[in-house]
Amino acid sequence: MDTSPLSAPSADLTAYAPASSRHAGAETAALAVLREVFGFDAFRGAQEDIIGHVIGGGDALVLMPTGGGKSLCYQIPAIVRQRQGHGVAVVVSPLIALMHNQVGALHEVGVAAAFLNSSQSFEESRAVEQQLLRGELTLLYVAPERLSAPRFMALLVQLHAQNKVGLFAIDEAHCVSQWGHDFRPDYRSLSLLHEQFPGVPRLALTATADDLTREDMLHHLALTESRAFVSSFDRPNIRYRIAEKRDAMAQLLGFIRSEFEGEAGIVYCQSRRRVEEVAAQLVRAGFNALAYHAGMESDVRRSNQDRFLREDGVIVVATIAFGMGIDKPDVRFVAHLDMPKNIEGYYQETGRAGRDGEPAVAWMVYGLADVVNQRRQIDEGVASDAFKKGLRGKLDALLALAEATDCRRVHLLDYFGERSQPCGNCDNCLMPPEVFDATENARKLLSTIYRFQQVSGMAFGSGHLLDVLRGKITERVTQYQHEQLSTFGIGSDISEAQWRALLRQLVTTGAVVIGSGDYATLHLGEPARALLKNEARISQRVLSPARASKSGGQTRRVPVDDAGLDRLGQRVFGELKAWRSEVARAHDLPAYVIFNNNTLKALAQERPSDADALHGIAGIGAKKLEAYGQEVLRVIQTSLGAAAAAEK
Ligand code: ADP
Ligand code: ZN
Repeated sequence: MDTSPLSAPSADLTAYAPASSRHAGAETAALAVLREVFGFDAFRGAQEDIIGHVIGGGDALVLMPTGGGKSLCYQIPAIVRQRQGHGVAVVVSPLIALMHNQVGALHEVGVAAAFLNSSQSFEESRAVEQQLLRGELTLLYVAPERLSAPRFMALLVQLHAQNKVGLFAIDEAHCVSQWGHDFRPDYRSLSLLHEQFPGVPRLALTATADDLTREDMLHHLALTESRAFVSSFDRPNIRYRIAEKRDAMAQLLGFIRSEFEGEAGIVYCQSRRRVEEVAAQLVRAGFNALAYHAGMESDVRRSNQDRFLREDGVIVVATIAFGMGIDKPDVRFVAHLDMPKNIEGYYQETGRAGRDGEPAVAWMVYGLADVVNQRRQIDEGVASDAFKKGLRGKLDALLALAEATDCRRVHLLDYFGERSQPCGNCDNCLMPPEVFDATENARKLLSTIYRFQQVSGMAFGSGHLLDVLRGKITERVTQYQHEQLSTFGIGSDISEAQWRALLRQLVTTGAVVIGSGDYATLHLGEPARALLKNEARISQRVLSPARASKSGGQTRRVPVDDAGLDRLGQRVFGELKAWRSEVARAHDLPAYVIFNNNTLKALAQERPSDADALHGIAGIGAKKLEAYGQEVLRVIQTSLGAAAAAEK
């Protein structure tokens, strides 16, 4: 395997260290790697501290949002420690597809990396094991189950005896927690690493971490003594928008058409069947949409995921099975047609939008049925009562976010323990909803539920409740003589949608409880008492049709790819993209692994004419300069030449 740019200068890089300070030396070596290998100028946020700490042999827990730059936090220590003679870095990663791309990306920058997972033949694994034993690898990606396999463990123990295991990185570390939504039992065996490999630094990384999950990670990974690096979880370029569900499909089509035609996006649905339906409808509407769920043939699923990663402008309609480790940087929107189970899930899924830092939208529609379904799934689950209580609490937090009339981001960040100010980039900030005092309406609604029980000795569902409130004579109304109730028709001047929204809000606060039977009957919960006694108040947002149709604040349509480029620049950018697609196809990798859009954009803007000028562009390190420099210059010159000829 070619490791050319790395093997030669390794001694020099660590030699930058002033003899007196090992730590400063480690940082200098790290910065040199960042520039030479990855072609980036400066570290972002906590990267520098984390990398310095780990190179120095410390354990760490890294909590950083998606797109924050976690990969470099272990890749750079891996390279530096390998050069210092500590041996290979073992990266535990839960996703096979991701391993392939990450190893591919490392090869592109000239780092010796490989993976071991179940997609390989015995011979292929064997070859990787040989490389490992010969000390040829800087990074080795493994699936968690591989780490607990005796054969592999024996290899590592053997290497460790020679001091040739330099680092353990545990990616997506929240998989160790059953509170996380991606629980992987195999992660639990990672708690043994510190006993089996004393002295080898361990680095756990994740973008998910409420308090419960965080404690679980520290406990199960035996990291209680480690340093925690907690970055802000804010994703300022993502605009959060949550709207009432009416005709979900029509709302979705309107949203994509008006704002994201031709862009890559992810649409999440709860069930496999719905995934299939929605994908088919999007295709009929002319979109390049593909389905993804765990019930599909694995090669179809794989191929759909690949197309999403590799082609431009594909929409994937998926269950939550899709996405962990999807590192495509230019996903412009994430849409939820059904509500997730908790804020962690919502945040993780929406976090797949806009990794490149460009504007992106997290869009969700939700309705009473979502609330009922989620509640029911919890109630009917087999978990212990204490566990169910935890799940309900998490669902309630998400509902509160959805019902919020103030800044969504303040709610989200608060959930992760971060105080913040209204963001100016969510629906509620951009179009503050009008609210009114709905206490009277709430009392009417609650007392009707109360009367049902008193008069008929039984509970009813939401359809009947709304009929009674709005004064509709139906068969059931007559059958139970509910037209006699004092609240019959008391809310005929209020739209059904407005009543429904109020009911949903009351369910959210627990004032109304949904029965666990087949008919979703309504009952009063404890918080109803204070409302009925006029000791509490409730306010509701005005549902305006205009707001609903726009689903809360459109993004200005900025064609992201071309942003900030003049005509000539756009032309060059187009040619560079075409060239990149060819290279990516030839290397069997996603396009962004070759160069990301920001690098191509910088090239199209600067239009460098020699290798020296190329060197200054972010994302072009030594290996890429060597491998692609001449071609990139040629593409730019040809494109400029053609443009000049066209002018004449
Ligand atoms: P995460 O794993 O935290 O979601 P990644 O490691 O995939 O994030 O990084 C997100 C993007 O940011 C990648 O395209 C990466 O190349 C880029 N990136 C990371 N660190 C830097 C840096 N210091 N300078 C410039 N770009 C960076
Ligand atoms: Zn806001």
